[in-house]
Amino acid sequence: MTDWEPVIGLEVHVQLATATKAFSPSGTAFGATPNSLTDPTVLGLPGALPVFNRRALQYAIALGLATGCTIRERSRFARKQYFYPDLPKGYQISQYEEPLCEGGAVEFLFGGQVRRVRLTRIHMEEDAGKSIHHSNVASWVDLNRAGVPLCEVVSEPDIRSAEEAAEYMRALRQLVRYLGVSGGDMEKGQLRCDANVSIRPRGQAELGTRAELKNINSFRFVQNAIEHEIARQIRILGSGGTIVQETRLWDSDAGTSRSMRTKEEAEDYRYFPDPDLPVVKVESATLEAIKADLPELPMAKCRRYLDDYGLSEDDARTLTAERSLAEFFDSAVEAHGSSGKGAKAIANWVQSELLRELNRDGKDVGECPIKAPHLAELVSLIEKGTISGKIAKDVFAKMYQTGDPPGIVVEREGLQQISDESAIEEIARKILSENPKQVASYQAGKQNLLGFFVGQVMKATRGKANPKLVNQLLRRLLDE
Ligand code: ADP
Ligand code: MG
Repeated sequence: MTDWEPVIGLEVHVQLATATKAFSPSGTAFGATPNSLTDPTVLGLPGALPVFNRRALQYAIALGLATGCTIRERSRFARKQYFYPDLPKGYQISQYEEPLCEGGAVEFLFGGQVRRVRLTRIHMEEDAGKSIHHSNVASWVDLNRAGVPLCEVVSEPDIRSAEEAAEYMRALRQLVRYLGVSGGDMEKGQLRCDANVSIRPRGQAELGTRAELKNINSFRFVQNAIEHEIARQIRILGSGGTIVQETRLWDSDAGTSRSMRTKEEAEDYRYFPDPDLPVVKVESATLEAIKADLPELPMAKCRRYLDDYGLSEDDARTLTAERSLAEFFDSAVEAHGSSGKGAKAIANWVQSELLRELNRDGKDVGECPIKAPHLAELVSLIEKGTISGKIAKDVFAKMYQTGDPPGIVVEREGLQQISDESAIEEIARKILSENPKQVASYQAGKQNLLGFFVGQVMKATRGKANPKLVNQLLRRLLDE
């Protein structure tokens, strides 16, 4: 039996989060009344002229820089001709021979390693409208989406499994959200993926014939659709058949795909430079300004958390998932002024207590009642022994309720840890004298009763006694 190796390349459309369309002043709000966001340019009325949206260009450049692409000084728009009811002009404005960005890569953690999927190009284009097929009798067209700016991110065929393809998509989503260039919401169609899939006998250099899967609109479907396609191709080639290069439509309800059309060639689109749009010139000063404005990117943060703070891959992944969470963590660590150790403690608090509370309330980190420096202070209070780790949980809960800093909560509620030996000793002696039977059993050899006495002392001090001291003292008193 042949051992087949899957080969996958993705074409991802990223909707840019501009307020207006790529070439005209209509708005881009999601969910607006159908056909309320149109204008002569969107409708392709005779004489209407496109004017390129500067913000869309800035976003596309930011994405290109963040993925290490080469940004072309002069790029050009082209017309891609095809007929469809949701494309009134009869052509889509896209880029063909001179795309804005070339090269570069998307990096992400996968199976404990940094995976690097190279990019062929990122080009700018406009979205088409939306056809809504109503039963079998009518189709409706909503042109609100027509003309919304997109970046198409084309990867090299570097991906080797369905799971890796889904991770690549997640990394891209995370990146565009960090950059603020797109909401990256697949449910709203802000991120859409066509997957090109082929297989080849493992060890063979030459690529196999690919099929292109369209209509994949969730991370789960990316994985399902590709897995299904790999299995389909193995079945065909394994039984001596051949793969036809074609476009297939993924049907997520049925969990299968069906052929949509045999693959069109680029020539079919009769691309030519759009005469209504000037060459897009990108000055080096513009590049520098956008570069200077880029945030620290998710992979850089991940590496820093792994290398400088010694966090686990899981921790680094969770903390960097959203930029707002990572920045909260960063400012807490900064406020703590700490080395790796404090960072680790802060990471634990963020991931366990903080995220649990926020998730329960359906809140974003931005709405967190606890300020980052206050969390840092809480960790310092534990480190200094002012409060125990256990009491700290109560302090945390109060901080979350009130937004007060931990120092104030501890003061107000009298939660300082009792580390005064004579005070603890007094309580310990009292507990021992109240439990003569247990003391006798302990002294007769039932050493595990120590836990019982510790529990009693903690209870008597409402959890405030320093647990280490309590243990030491009890052992000494019992051995006397
Ligand atoms: P188009 O789909 O517009 O014809 P390309 O030929 O440039 O464009 O390929 C688009 C995508 O298909 C790219 O992401 C590329 O990596 C991927 N691809 C090309 N050949 C193969 C193949 N044999 N197997 C899997 N993916 C492929
Ligand atoms: Mg394609």
